Amino acid sequence: MTPGFGQKLYPYNRLHPRLCADFALTNAIRLLAARRVAEIQPFVVMDVLARAHQLEAAGRRVIHMEIGEPDFTAPPQVVAAATRALRDGLSAYTATLGLPALREAIAAHYGTCFSKKVTPDNVAITAGASGGLLLTLALYVNPGDEILVPDPGYPGYRHMVRAFEGVARPLNVAPESNFQPTLAMVRTAWGPRTRGLLLGSPANPTGTVIAGKELQAIARFIAARGGVLIVDEIYQGLTYAPQGRSAAATALGLPGEVVLVNSFSKYFCMTGWRLGWVVLPNAPRVREFEKLAQHLFICAPSVAQHAALACFLPATLRILERRRIEFQRRRDFLLPALERAGLRVPARPAGAFYLYAACPGRNVDAKDFALQLLESEGVAATPGMDFGAHRTRGYVRFAYTRAMADLEEAAWRLKNFCERRLRLTRSAAAPAASARGARARRAP
Ligand code: PMP
Repeated sequence: MTPGFGQKLYPYNRLHPRLCADFALTNAIRLLAARRVAEIQPFVVMDVLARAHQLEAAGRRVIHMEIGEPDFTAPPQVVAAATRALRDGLSAYTATLGLPALREAIAAHYGTCFSKKVTPDNVAITAGASGGLLLTLALYVNPGDEILVPDPGYPGYRHMVRAFEGVARPLNVAPESNFQPTLAMVRTAWGPRTRGLLLGSPANPTGTVIAGKELQAIARFIAARGGVLIVDEIYQGLTYAPQGRSAAATALGLPGEVVLVNSFSKYFCMTGWRLGWVVLPNAPRVREFEKLAQHLFICAPSVAQHAALACFLPATLRILERRRIEFQRRRDFLLPALERAGLRVPARPAGAFYLYAACPGRNVDAKDFALQLLESEGVAATPGMDFGAHRTRGYVRFAYTRAMADLEEAAWRLKNFCERRLRLTRSAAAPAASARGARARRAP
């Protein structure tokens, strides 16, 4: 018998049958897992979540502020439309680019909410923003191409770029630029292999919105170099500037090759329905996108698409607007509450539902902080390391996707926790300081 790869690596056919199976499996994993998998980093927050579940199983109450999804469910009009679709058997594949009526409704939404004109032909319905991002990157990224991504930023960006054999090049964003890329950063990072920039606004994890003028300038710069600007607008509609919705700008209409990615997950509170959309710049791109989508997804979930038609009814939008105001109320409560507890929010978020805060103290490891906070107070938050490598170790992200009463409770627990930590640090430092003092006094 000619030895196969597995037999060359492990003579497992000479072992006990159970071990044989294990070795065969090990070999299979070795042989099948592609190199890209090794570069995908697991979420640190999953450790927090696993411990939270253990604590809950043991009867503890945990306030979950680590998860990035609204606590509101899909509006009742959407649920009713889904029920009707199921009853009427509307569960077959749709056209790859989505139901024409939904593409039209989305195009019209840009007109009514943002006074921007979009042709429905340029709208493609996708399986969430995730499906939209994957297809967009499949459309533009050749092996070795660089895509600039903000760090900290949504981790999916860099991992998806890697999945298409691209190189995600981090743009180190910081409070000074509101945690958003600037033209200067893009200019400095742009090299011969750079193909484009992918950014989120409002951003995850910081909730900050890029200034319109800066984005304009970046778009012009990229257009001049024949690159692509991909803007993830998944938190569109969830902005809390004093002037309200009008501040929820869209990158639509910027010059050059611009792709907008959006979703029903956040503003429309439909995370598990797996529905999103992409606005593509021109007809050839739509056709290319369609070809990819045909093979990678066939279409987005059809019942969800029929249901989503109800998202744009005036009654639904009124409910969503009330929810937006509730998110704003939560942000306005939680931000000062975190600061009173000793955390620092260096860039005031104007959107999404996150607060990205620096842990109190020096050289604090955010993962330890998050695990201790969970252990002693039952409050779960996401360590900053999940969002990149640039000064993320001292940060935690809190999602204000819990009812106000829970947030008040969490704020109170957090304050106790930080005060206790401070007392402990001081009492640990005090004997060391007095020993230093005694040594200094004894010194000749
Ligand atoms: N982009 C950002 C910035 C996100 O935060 C998320 C999910 N948390 C996604 C994209 C993916 O969202 P979905 O696939 O549910 O639309």
